[in-house]
Amino acid sequence: TYVIGSPCIDVKDRACVDECPVDCIYEGKRTLYIQPDECIDCGACEPVCPVEAIYYEADLPDEEQPYLADNERFFADI
Ligand code: SF4
Repeated sequence: TYVIGSPCIDVKDRACVDECPVDCIYEGKRTLYIQPDECIDCGACEPVCPVEAIYYEADLPDEEQPYLADNERFFADI
């Protein structure tokens, strides 16, 4: 799955939302989130993000690891 990290916070450009073929990018209060069970790993969202906030999960840098848990919490709550 792909994961949205810290650069998205308070940006929420939504270019990725328009690209995603399965509409699995959801809007939270301060950032967008990718629903991991719905993401088909197509990669279409990653290059269109103007702040390069989207990472393939395996390539997520150490400092962005907390966003994985944040992502999980978001989907646990809705
Ligand atoms: Fe949507 Fe594809 Fe990005 Fe997954 S990788 S969030 S399916 S655009």
